Amino acid sequence: MQNKKMTKKTRLSFSAVSIEDKKQENKISVPNTTPGATSGENKTNRSIGPRTPNRKRLQKSSTYQYSKFGKRRGAQNSVGSSGKSMANRNNGEKIPDPAPGNIRIIPLGGVEEIGKNMTAVEIGDDIIVIDAGMHFSTEETPGVDYVIPNTTYLEERKDKIRALIVTHGHLDHIGGVPLVLSRIGNPTVYSRNLSVLMMRKRATEFPQLPPMKENIVEKDSTITCGKIKVRFFGVTHTIPDSMGIIIETDKGWIVTPGDYKLDQVDGIVSKEEEEEYSIFDKAKVLLLLTDSTNIENEGFSLPEVKVHQGLENLIRKVSGRMIIAAFASHITRLAHIVKFAESLGKKIALDGRSMKTNIEVAIEAKLFEPKKGTVIPLEEINNYPPNKVVILMTGAQGEEFASLNRAANKTHTKFTLHKGDTIILSASVVPGNELQVQKMKDGLTRQGVRIISYRTSGEDFIHATGHGNQEDIKWLHRKTHPQFFIPIHGWHSMLVRHKELAMELGMSEENIVVPDNGSIIEISADGKKISMRKERAPSGAMMVDGVSISDTQDVVIRDRKMLAEDGMFVIIALIDQKTGKLKKSPDLISRGFVYLKENQELLRQVRMMIKKTVEDSTARIPGRTDGNQIDFDHIKNGLGETVSKFLYQQTAKRPLVIPVILSV
Ligand SMILES: [Zn+2]
Ligand SMILES: [Zn+2]
Repeated sequence: MQNKKMTKKTRLSFSAVSIEDKKQENKISVPNTTPGATSGENKTNRSIGPRTPNRKRLQKSSTYQYSKFGKRRGAQNSVGSSGKSMANRNNGEKIPDPAPGNIRIIPLGGVEEIGKNMTAVEIGDDIIVIDAGMHFSTEETPGVDYVIPNTTYLEERKDKIRALIVTHGHLDHIGGVPLVLSRIGNPTVYSRNLSVLMMRKRATEFPQLPPMKENIVEKDSTITCGKIKVRFFGVTHTIPDSMGIIIETDKGWIVTPGDYKLDQVDGIVSKEEEEEYSIFDKAKVLLLLTDSTNIENEGFSLPEVKVHQGLENLIRKVSGRMIIAAFASHITRLAHIVKFAESLGKKIALDGRSMKTNIEVAIEAKLFEPKKGTVIPLEEINNYPPNKVVILMTGAQGEEFASLNRAANKTHTKFTLHKGDTIILSASVVPGNELQVQKMKDGLTRQGVRIISYRTSGEDFIHATGHGNQEDIKWLHRKTHPQFFIPIHGWHSMLVRHKELAMELGMSEENIVVPDNGSIIEISADGKKISMRKERAPSGAMMVDGVSISDTQDVVIRDRKMLAEDGMFVIIALIDQKTGKLKKSPDLISRGFVYLKENQELLRQVRMMIKKTVEDSTARIPGRTDGNQIDFDHIKNGLGETVSKFLYQQTAKRPLVIPVILSV
């Protein structure tokens, strides 16, 4: 029985196979299944009968399309992204509640990656969630709009969630907020003013969701979430109103600063900063969770004030028009540029949606109040002398549709570059964007403009990271002197490097846990031990793709990757119900695979193969003698397997083969 069922399952239509079959594999590995189901490929072979000579292979490989078979074998050494998120699931195992007195910490996103930060802290009956970020699609998730953390663990414990506390207004901390809130019971969101405004803006993109219950706090506020007292402290970052979080427990404080760097010059930390962190001088810090983004960079981070000075110098001395492309998220810097340009009597034009939105929000938050007439529409820049205009643009990463790139390839409808313009790329190149930035720079150079990037030697500083380097990080560790430590925000190798740094500073190894997304970490009731449980919270990324959100889109993503790599091959076969033979020569459609016109011989062979496969399988259907029934799924599988294998042998390509069977 079990075997029969299994066979049926593997015969689902092609694009649906993967998930179903994976689940099936999971089930098989559960020890309590009937012996027949677990033990026997032989038995499987026999009970299924003579349909396919190679039953075993069909059963396994039908997880993927047959065309994926070769790839699959190769892929076993590395972990494919789809395989990984599957493995991350907990196989339905129930995760027990924390034992009385234990504190549980679960990084649900932001480790094993940079982006989509989210951490849950569970104490007694209360859960506090910290941040709910997103990251944009990568080549791992082609076509997906963006990715948010997996909320399954929280969804199953909605009634315990007391708050979502947000450290600051960057998308890797707030981008998932509207969607996450709607999934975890819409708890109150606590954050500082600008961050709340940024979240409100973000929420306007999801008008269908219930309104956010917000509570604006100050850096010296104290709130109570369930039985837990929480307080905050101010940190320096590239966006104002960034704050760290302190969760008070009977064993000491749990501290996370969010993203931070130190306000320092030449290693001398400013008085304000020292004062802000002085709350830790006499505190017992039980646990520190902190950012590992720049753990590989030596020294202190370049202070933002140096960048401000550099940009001021340039704005003062450049004689023509000045175009500054920067991250729209670096609101502190943008605000400074606007204020400084205004002080020199220059006009500011904004271009790019996120640039306009973020400046709007900053003005709404009263971070600065430009005089009327300082900010002008882009269309009006030509009404002013070139040296009286500064244009702030998006697109320092060469993003295809961002303003600066459109200017570079002359597709900008409202703006053209002039000889003598100066372009300042006030940003580092995010790894992976090098080529597109280079192409953009070429496009700009061809138009006779001057480019100053953060690497241009002899120029002032025009960019600095928002994250602390090694010395900032060491300073924070010394200042907070934690008993336990969990490195977060970064790829695994960065977290391990961060652990080593903590050990160099004197922490012992057993007091540090390097987490993966979904790791369940507990501090014992006596406060003496930190450990990772064997169970894991589900952590497969939730992909937001158009209107759907799901962690089970591996099939879709896999298909997109296959299409991108090897194209598709569609077989349309028309079968005569009575005879079981093909009515006519099958139609073949190929996209992104081979050019059909030049591969006539290949096509001829494929057609013959289709004919033979169809007729062999219709002849062999036992049902045909009594009910005259043709098993279309069976034929489809047979065709998919045979043809994709053949195409692979002939071309070394593995197109997505889609057999379509019609009958008359
Ligand atoms: Zn940030
Ligand atoms: Zn961040």
